[in-house]
Amino acid sequence: MNKNKIENIVIVGGGTAGWMTASLLAKVLGKTVNITLIESDKIGIVGVGEATIPPIVSFNKAIGVDETEFIKATQGTIKLGIEFNNWYQDGDSYMHAFGNIGKNFPFCDFHHFWLRHQQNTNNSSGSSSGSTPSYWDYSLNYQAARYNKFSPLRSIPNTNLPGLTHAYHFDAGLYAKFLHKHAVGLGTKRIEGKIVQVQQNHDSGFIESVLLENGTAVTGDLFIDCSGLAALLTEKTLSTGYEDYSHWLPCDRAIAVPCEKVEPIEPYTRSTAHKVGWQWRIPLQHRTGNGLVYSSKHMSDEEAKELLLNNLDGKPLAEPRVISFKTGRRLKQWHKNVIAIGLSSGFFEPLESTNIHLVQTAALRLLDFFPHNGINIEEVEEFNRQSKVELEGIRDFIILHYKLNNRGDSEFWRACQRMEIPESLLNKIELFKKTGKVFCKPDDLFTEIAWQQVMIGQGNIPEDHHPLVDTLSKEQLIDLMASLTTLINRTVDKLPSHDEFLQLLK
Ligand SMILES: Cc1cc2nc3c(=O)[nH]c(=O)nc-3n(C[C@H](O)[C@H](O)[C@H](O)COP(=O)(O)OP(=O)(O)OC[C@H]3O[C@@H](n4cnc5c(N)ncnc54)[C@H](O)[C@@H]3O)c2cc1C
Repeated sequence: MNKNKIENIVIVGGGTAGWMTASLLAKVLGKTVNITLIESDKIGIVGVGEATIPPIVSFNKAIGVDETEFIKATQGTIKLGIEFNNWYQDGDSYMHAFGNIGKNFPFCDFHHFWLRHQQNTNNSSGSSSGSTPSYWDYSLNYQAARYNKFSPLRSIPNTNLPGLTHAYHFDAGLYAKFLHKHAVGLGTKRIEGKIVQVQQNHDSGFIESVLLENGTAVTGDLFIDCSGLAALLTEKTLSTGYEDYSHWLPCDRAIAVPCEKVEPIEPYTRSTAHKVGWQWRIPLQHRTGNGLVYSSKHMSDEEAKELLLNNLDGKPLAEPRVISFKTGRRLKQWHKNVIAIGLSSGFFEPLESTNIHLVQTAALRLLDFFPHNGINIEEVEEFNRQSKVELEGIRDFIILHYKLNNRGDSEFWRACQRMEIPESLLNKIELFKKTGKVFCKPDDLFTEIAWQQVMIGQGNIPEDHHPLVDTLSKEQLIDLMASLTTLINRTVDKLPSHDEFLQLLK
């Protein structure tokens, strides 16, 4: 396809995507390639994207970032899961807690034991609110989140049961600044300036250079498009095309506003459904991030602003900002000599905080496929195939939240109940309903435990359980479940509060 050696990488854009990609490439390939990042202060960054998922912990380690320094620099907090309020129906609540639940058994996931235990205690409500025992009584992450506790914990003391699994909330602007310093320290060259023109090769269509407003041309062999929703290279120049997901993920606007913080600082994100979408709440050390996600077909920006401002914990600290988006994915994440990473490659709405994670996996995949001796079509196609598979797994998981609602309060939610969903998702929902089984592929981001929580939390309670559970007598099952709750509660009791943990970092 193109046999030129790749020596000069140009990253267009200095938001979270640009600086994460620069940090990883500079850390791993820094001695063999030149990395230049172009960003425009005039344009700025999207400035949202403050909640993450656990793999970011290993990403930060891989690029050589110290956790304490990172939390301090970004006003970061710990995230143990996402609390979903009113998603199944008003007044209902459950959590997608990270990490394990209960105890692992061969051939049979723990929730089957819980299901049987529920039947025994004649209580079939799956919700974490109200009835006990709930599925989340057996989640260390959930219990720690509920009591605002945290300390790094690899395993439950004196057992082989896993400890806490965490991610972070952080200030997106501060994270970009922190990574900027880090990537420049690793040898990335930064150029400030607005790109006004893109030069392509006449024959191949490959990008040769970008021209800045001040007349400087920046040439490169490989271009990484991290220009955010502008998609400057991948779409505006190469017209790569977009697969629209809005018939499944109907929200197309967000309105964001920070407000004064409240104490204690909760170690989890809140997602609260409203009549045509949902609201996020992300607690940071210095403020709380808030945003309303909605469908512009069903709600005006003015109504959204009013709804958001009426549902803040504290005084707003800035003017609310409206951001428009279209959910979907770029048809080819890699096209010619351009790889789109971040918002330029598509956007799933922020519900399960997957977008920063997708920056991470795209940058890691680029390392796997790095075309040092020139670009091969086979590599490009495999890269794109893997990205598509990854995105479709995540897409299904996010659609699940909309589909399994029991809210009849608006046409928005009723349409979500009725919508036709991808067959892959339909099969998962039906299999779980009949048998309690859910299967994920080894590379899927969301594990069986994540799927089980959303299914159970949103009313898809299995009609059957795995037969292995019946090898235990009723008494043995009661003992097993009681010993697990005792262990978890005892462990949570001994943890310091999340606030104390943050204080210790100062
Ligand atoms: C409402 C909303 C909420 C979100 N919440 C989450 C969340 O909780 N968790 C999560 O994981 N993700 C979230 N995301 C996604 C997350 O914000 C992004 O994935 C992440 O910030 C990466 O953005 P980016 O770097 O691609 O784009 P941006 O931050 O927009 O950066 C684009 C860069 O390109 C530069 N640029 C653009 N045009 C030019 C030009 N002509 N010349 C020079 N430079 C240019 C800009 O200056 C900027 O530096 C959210 C997104 C939205 C819209």
